[in-house]
Amino acid sequence: MAYDDDTTLGGTGARTRAVHGGTRRSQWGEVSEAIFLTQGFVYDSAEAAEARFQECGPDEFIYARYGNPTVRMFEDRIAQLEGAEDAFATASGMAAVNGALTSILKAGDRVVSARALFGSCIYILESILGRYGVEVVFVDGTDLDAWREAVTPETTAVFLETISNPALEVVDLPAVSAIAREAGALTIVDNVFATPVYSRAVEQGADLVIYSTTKHIDGQGRALGGVILGSREMIRGQIEPYMKHTGGSMSPFTAWLMLKGLETLDLRVRAQAENARAMAQAISGDPRLARVIHPALPDHPQAETAQTLTGGECTLLAIDLAGGQEAAFRFLNALKVMVISNNLGDAKSIVTHPATTTHQRLSDEQKETLGITPGLIRISAGIEDTADLIADLRAALDAV
Ligand SMILES: *Cc1c(COP(=O)(O)O)cnc(C)c1O
Repeated sequence: MAYDDDTTLGGTGARTRAVHGGTRRSQWGEVSEAIFLTQGFVYDSAEAAEARFQECGPDEFIYARYGNPTVRMFEDRIAQLEGAEDAFATASGMAAVNGALTSILKAGDRVVSARALFGSCIYILESILGRYGVEVVFVDGTDLDAWREAVTPETTAVFLETISNPALEVVDLPAVSAIAREAGALTIVDNVFATPVYSRAVEQGADLVIYSTTKHIDGQGRALGGVILGSREMIRGQIEPYMKHTGGSMSPFTAWLMLKGLETLDLRVRAQAENARAMAQAISGDPRLARVIHPALPDHPQAETAQTLTGGECTLLAIDLAGGQEAAFRFLNALKVMVISNNLGDAKSIVTHPATTTHQRLSDEQKETLGITPGLIRISAGIEDTADLIADLRAALDAV
């Protein structure tokens, strides 16, 4: 079967690439990307099978754990959006984080990581890597002096979330990647909160960029997925062999969902970012709130860095109710439009109480250093009408 590779289609704008990038059409000329729900591929002859195993061309496949046409379309499309040479799609965001770290690390290596991370990332760094002899040092990601001190010449990699979950700390990626490069270390970035729409992570020095595609890229709460992006040499030389032999590859059906998600990503994420900003501005200064956190608010401690990273855009905000957990629960229970859950980046606005759910496992001390107070609520803005969201927020605050 021959496919037309439409990757070179006319336009180079982000929305054009998000709709057309990576498309491979079969002889049927289908409009919507085909789902190749096949685990394997038939060879014309024994010689052809032998040749394929000796050298697998860029549009040739052997087994779905190694690669699949639908998955490859997704990988090419997101690589074009991110401005990366190549990508490997994974079964979940955590398969991507684990794969990116484990494929390049070995016993005796040293990793320096920002400490404000997604809960499962903390588990990998804190509880797994150490068992295999990797030293992991945590620093305050917003403190450049701390990075300079910790990133010794023995450091293999630095790891960070550009905008952290849930307290929205912003790390100065260009500065940290420069520190890493000088020490000969790789920069690995979990870039979920920046999104491919606003990210400039590759040009700002990231060697590997990771997304949980479960979040904005699916954006409709349907499936788990992840992706690792980087140079062709790293993706095909180090990441692919590790992922394809350890079983963390994305399924063709998931890749199809994610391809369709990419088509509307730009529209959804811009609408979400507008809603998040409008909500933050509408309630900033309310006396019932100890803090309103959004990178575009002038009192955000890293407001300037956020400008460099994403133009100050973020689809999430966090609020800290002055009345603590009791007030936070009353607020959550009074909401009518926004739903209580723990996903983010969805078309639906989602509210989360990190201290009792996503970050429940952390010690009180860890919660305090990460700014996860009893009154903290994370709000992932959806694409609903801005006025409805602000009215929902105001009514719930009145119910507190
Ligand atoms: C959700 C998330 C992950 C994990 O992704 P899954 O798809 O749930 O495995 C990792 N990092 C960040 C920042 C996330 O938000």
